[in-house]
Amino acid sequence: MTDLGLSGLKGDTVPDVADDGVWLTCIECGHVHPPFDDVIYTCEECDGLLEARYADAPTFDDFEGRGVWRHSSALPFEEGVTLPEGDTPLHYVPRLEEDVGVRNLRIKHEGMNPTGSFKDRGMTVGVRVAEEVGVDRLACASTGNTSAALAAYGARAGLETLVLLPAGKVAAGKVAQASLHGARILEVDGNFDSCLDIVQDLADRGEAYLLNSLNPFRLEGQKTIGFEILERFHDDEGRFPDRIVLPVGNAGNTSALYKAFRELVASGELDEDQVPKLTGVQAEGAAPMVEAIEHGWDDTERWDEVETRATAIRIGNPVNAPKALPGIRNTDGTAVAVSDEQITAAQRDLAEEGIGVEPASAASVAGLRKLRDQGEIGADEDVVCLTTGHLLKDPDAAAEAGADPEPVPNDTDEVLAHLQD
Ligand SMILES: *Cc1c(COP(=O)(O)O)cnc(C)c1O
Ligand SMILES: [Zn+2]
Repeated sequence: MTDLGLSGLKGDTVPDVADDGVWLTCIECGHVHPPFDDVIYTCEECDGLLEARYADAPTFDDFEGRGVWRHSSALPFEEGVTLPEGDTPLHYVPRLEEDVGVRNLRIKHEGMNPTGSFKDRGMTVGVRVAEEVGVDRLACASTGNTSAALAAYGARAGLETLVLLPAGKVAAGKVAQASLHGARILEVDGNFDSCLDIVQDLADRGEAYLLNSLNPFRLEGQKTIGFEILERFHDDEGRFPDRIVLPVGNAGNTSALYKAFRELVASGELDEDQVPKLTGVQAEGAAPMVEAIEHGWDDTERWDEVETRATAIRIGNPVNAPKALPGIRNTDGTAVAVSDEQITAAQRDLAEEGIGVEPASAASVAGLRKLRDQGEIGADEDVVCLTTGHLLKDPDAAAEAGADPEPVPNDTDEVLAHLQD
């Protein structure tokens, strides 16, 4: 195990700018910022990514209650705008486990959150912070799920929401959610990365509060995925999993899980050699993180052209790469790209176990299978795959991957005859 980059998480020096033991630190230059005085997303000195820091690192004993806010000792507030979220199942998949050939395979199904994706975990915290800083319009760029979550949590908080989507590249269920929850939906003639460029400009001009994962507080909520996995797996197996495999788009979750582990190491709850290996999976048509891991780069190079059926991870410029790349490297993890065919096959594998996921989610299982076949993942490993969004998010992809309906006459005897054919 290499250096986990723990400095600054131990909370031994609380800066003057801290508010109730919370502050923001630049991951590049270390400059500290007050958390809620001004609306800032990146470092005022060097434009680097910001990370929330706390006076105290959390212990498992601090956690009580249910869902995301069970982990409030690791969050900036005691409670937030909640629907409620988190507390998602860690499914057993015995047939898939045997087929893939690992000691334990569990599926953390984030599609079971209120709006059907893990984005709800980030929004319950992010919208609470928006209330704290006192803004009235929330905005995000989205491949779909962030907009659905923002629309729902914004509605719950009684705030105006604005979402920018790449025209024609968002799955039907997600647009429907954003629409019914009352977001103003702008369809941009460009890809997700262009949408994010525009919404960042709007935020910089003070037109809206940005709730993409560039906002460090979103990642605080998403850390709770890591806490839940470790708590549940340990309850069931008496140890922590060896590896967590997850789909990667903007690399927010990868960064958030890494931070959860570092905080538990800082509090002494987790030994460095117990930290699960973070293993990122991208689609072959949108794999800048895989490229950066293979070349040993500290940041990704932007892919201008991206394409994949897994629209949630159709991203060429992952904003959280500088946080996520050390997470993958320092935990001895890796990153791998899979084809759309492998993604659809994995979507069917999960469906056969009763677990319905959207294409991007199935990338985790597709990646596990590929790395297992290559011998990069051992047969003796305990693995948790993250499935990020629900099947109903993308009904078109599900119908394409599944069986076709069979037309039959309106008559029992003819239906029986058809069944016997
Ligand atoms: C947002 C999203 C992702 C990508 O997550 P990152 O944290 O941006 O890497 C993956 N799958 C689904 C279903 C998503 O909605
Ligand atoms: Zn800085």
